[in-house]
Amino acid sequence: MSNEKNKVGFVSLGCPKALVDSERIMTQLKIEGYDLVASYNEADLVVVNTCGFIDEAKAESLEAIGEAISENGRVIVTGCMGKDTQSITDIHPRVLSVTGPHEYAEVMSAVQEHLPPSQFSNPPVHNPLIDLTPAQGIKLTPKHYAYLKISEGCNHRCTFCIIPSLRGDLVSRPINEVMEEAERLKQAGVQELLIISQDTSAYGLDLKYQKEIWRGQSRQTRLLDLCNALGELDLWTRLHYVYPYPHVDKIIPLMAEGKILPYLDIPFQHGSTRVLKAMKRPGAVEHNLQRIQRWREICPEITLRSTFIVGFPGETEDEFQELIDFIEEAKLDHAGCFKYSPVKGAIANDQGEHIDDDIMDERFNIFMRVQGQISEARLQEKVGKTIDVLIDEVDSEGAIGRSKADAPEIDGRVMIDGESDLNPGDIVSVKVTEADEHDLWGELKDTRIRFKPLT
Ligand code: SF4
Repeated sequence: MSNEKNKVGFVSLGCPKALVDSERIMTQLKIEGYDLVASYNEADLVVVNTCGFIDEAKAESLEAIGEAISENGRVIVTGCMGKDTQSITDIHPRVLSVTGPHEYAEVMSAVQEHLPPSQFSNPPVHNPLIDLTPAQGIKLTPKHYAYLKISEGCNHRCTFCIIPSLRGDLVSRPINEVMEEAERLKQAGVQELLIISQDTSAYGLDLKYQKEIWRGQSRQTRLLDLCNALGELDLWTRLHYVYPYPHVDKIIPLMAEGKILPYLDIPFQHGSTRVLKAMKRPGAVEHNLQRIQRWREICPEITLRSTFIVGFPGETEDEFQELIDFIEEAKLDHAGCFKYSPVKGAIANDQGEHIDDDIMDERFNIFMRVQGQISEARLQEKVGKTIDVLIDEVDSEGAIGRSKADAPEIDGRVMIDGESDLNPGDIVSVKVTEADEHDLWGELKDTRIRFKPLT
């Protein structure tokens, strides 16, 4: 009789929120005694966590499911695309089960049904003395940073977005639960927490900001209290997906005090008041510009990242020009641009005339050129300054890290040539010597490593 555990392969697609779902499912699989394996050949069954946000993502998800079926044959599908079961089973009728996003219990039931845990599995309760599962759970990110999801779903109804129909209304995690996870991550060596949700600034609204106790103190389940509590952990804490509500202003002083990173990822989406209204996004444009100015007065070193959509249905030349005027005035550090993509089920598809692909491409290119010049000028201002850098990778040619102004995957990097003795997770002082549109180059200012991760 074999004494091997049952083996599950895992394919994770999509955004950081989907990644956190994958981490939770994988952690649960380990707790319940399954082995996670890295190849189709070894696996008894494969779970594919899909993304269904835009058509390209759906196509990629369908392709991944097809590959898993042809390479392994036994496939369970979950994630955003699973909300529309038929769109998967029409093309891949052989899948064993389809569940939607963050349906952890349903995925586990499907795995147990099609691959019951072997008799050699760990008991289904986490026991830190005998389980091999780390207490902080399985993380798909490097050891020194982690995504921390504070809520699911969204109460807004932006017309271009189908997330609320995929993930439902806002459901926040109580503040003590979030902080306990943050502490576990710190103990496991994490240096940087990336706070994510669909709408970070709405955190706690659904719980009526209920009070919980953490470290002996009563705290409200709301963003301001969460940022204060995270500040006590003395980690790099970075806020993502912050919706531009006025109360976000209250967070900026915490950035100036160094409690959380002076970094705000705040998708403005457009610079024309008419288009913003059509999108059902808040804020007259001039208010957004005034607020950016006020944030910079309170916290001059703040880094602002945003995303925008060009080619929204009915967007006129003048409105596109308003967007360009907005980014020229806002002078954001980082800005991503998406061409409008008609997602099935989005109200925006019928809100105006579809913009021709050629015009869309032209607007995208103009946006990228203008923003590229702005980003480069912002980075040039850093040449000669000394900054803290968190090291991500090291090889024989040197180290690559990120400053407080750069989130992993989406922003720039800092190259430190010739410094191969550093380790991922070190935080070092670097004097910036060179900059381009995206990245910085620098030399170690202080060879003393200021913080080494716990091992
Ligand atoms: S706030 Fe974000 S997740 Fe919510 S509906 Fe708007 S775009 Fe979608």
